[in-house]
Amino acid sequence: MAANAFNNSTLTDVRTDRVCLDCDKLLTEASDAIRRHTGDMTVGMFLIHRGDLTEEARQDFRARLVASFRDAQSSWDAYRRHLMDHGILPELS
Ligand SMILES: [Zn+2]
Repeated sequence: MAANAFNNSTLTDVRTDRVCLDCDKLLTEASDAIRRHTGDMTVGMFLIHRGDLTEEARQDFRARLVASFRDAQSSWDAYRRHLMDHGILPELS
């Protein structure tokens, strides 16, 4: 019943004329940024488990992880705002 309510209130409101080329561009940017962060995190976990990182290298890697996370978050937020502008997603409460 909950799934039907979701479908009726949300999915039927998404019409093809309410999306644009920027939707695809922003989603691709967000996906790519999340993928880059995933790669950084995967390498980070490997290096930590290997256990031979110097403190300086650990700090450098941490800065890289934070930067790729923020980039992914920013890209995702831009995509979310764009969908809100279309009226596809509700405004955050
Ligand atoms: Zn759009």
